[in-house]
Amino acid sequence: MKKLSIGVRLTIWYLAIFAVAQVAFGAGMWFLLRHHLYDLVDDDLEGQIEDLRNFMEAQKKDASVAKLQEEVAEAYLLEHSGDYFELYAENGALLYRSTFLQNHPITLIPSGQFKKPIFRDRRITGRLFRFTVQRLAANGHTYTAATGIPMDDVVETLGIFRNYLLMFGPLLFLVAAAGGYWLSRRALSPVDALVRTAHDISGVNLDSRLPKLNTGDELQRLSDTLNEMLDRIENAFLRITQFTADASHELRTPISLIRTEAELALRRSRGESEYKESLRNILLEAERTTALVEQLLSLARADSGREALHVQSMNLAETLHQVEESWQQVAQIRNLKFAVNIAPDSFVLGDASALHRLADLLLDNAFKYTPSPGSVLLSLETNGANALIVVQDSGPGIPREEQSKIFERFYRIDKARGRQHGGAGLGLAIAKWIVAQHSGSISVESELGRGSIFRVELPLISVPAQKPTLA
Ligand code: ADP
Repeated sequence: MKKLSIGVRLTIWYLAIFAVAQVAFGAGMWFLLRHHLYDLVDDDLEGQIEDLRNFMEAQKKDASVAKLQEEVAEAYLLEHSGDYFELYAENGALLYRSTFLQNHPITLIPSGQFKKPIFRDRRITGRLFRFTVQRLAANGHTYTAATGIPMDDVVETLGIFRNYLLMFGPLLFLVAAAGGYWLSRRALSPVDALVRTAHDISGVNLDSRLPKLNTGDELQRLSDTLNEMLDRIENAFLRITQFTADASHELRTPISLIRTEAELALRRSRGESEYKESLRNILLEAERTTALVEQLLSLARADSGREALHVQSMNLAETLHQVEESWQQVAQIRNLKFAVNIAPDSFVLGDASALHRLADLLLDNAFKYTPSPGSVLLSLETNGANALIVVQDSGPGIPREEQSKIFERFYRIDKARGRQHGGAGLGLAIAKWIVAQHSGSISVESELGRGSIFRVELPLISVPAQKPTLA
């Protein structure tokens, strides 16, 4: 079943509550009016009883029943207050009964004893009457009187009031329904505008934004939040597009070099040594391409969150000693001095192979960019709560204005020189990612012509307990 829109649902709820309130209000007012009108009638009845008491007080104390009958009849026969009235003497003898009550005999006086005044509604020939039955003491005698008032006016007033309620209630309900629907449509109309714009946003117009609302309410918060989300998505999208474009560009160069080398070699027949030279060049470019593709893959996996690190407590000193071994030989070949100063036992929570790679990336740059004769230093020490890895070289240095940019992807200071050394400007971006994954920090200190110092700080953990040795 199709779900109703929020606007319609809000209107229905609003109307349901409105209808209940309207019925409660109407019924309440009707009962209040009725109560008030009955009070007025009861006051009239009390007044009639009071008049009768005064009248009986005025009679002689020892007047006979017959005399009293005569007096009451004379006084009340012409008076309208006696139209629905009967009076009994103390011994139960009837002193007076109006013509109406004679013609419509009804039992008003209860058979048992009663003390408090009784008020009762009676329907006689379709008309409603209200009677009161009371004991009244006068001249040392107790009489029982019953007197009534026709309720025609009360019934009519209540009827008119009820008709008004029934007539204007539904009218009010219809006006409220229209008003409620209009209000909810008005309040939710910005949502329609948001939906329409959001519907049109795709990869080609990611710079579009939802209309800025100035309602100062939840809808404004919603559109602002969605726009902030679009900002983030657009940035991520642009980064990916840029990454793809840069990656394709970087891959195109070695592939066209390989192609040119092969085409030149095949253009005419050559001697064995020339072919070998060409193949060596092709192999070199192929190796560089492989390294580049690995770096690209590693960054792509990092971006997608699939480059999972196996973090565990590890001794950084051990890892750096392994790194050192493989670089000693490179130092010899490149005729560079390689000094190593690794403090023992620096425990961190880390992925050994990722940290191995981090040190490789920094040393690779140091050896790559430092001309012979020169020196490279690898050191590990503790700095407060951190382990500090330092890779220092006596190379060309990095200009101050470039220092913040070298950690960006594909950034090379001197494009031609970088390419000649085989770098695509991805090494430090990967190093930065590895450091970030270890909640650490990486920085560079350098001056042109005075070498560079790369510092990596990683949070230390307390030395893990010695594993129990088996006896
Ligand atoms: P690449 O693979 O090109 O070396 P990196 O991201 O590792 O890329 O480095 C970015 C740029 O920073 C390099 O192109 C280089 O110009 C500069 N750079 C990095 N390390 C050093 C260093 N030790 N000495 C001088 N320049 C460096």
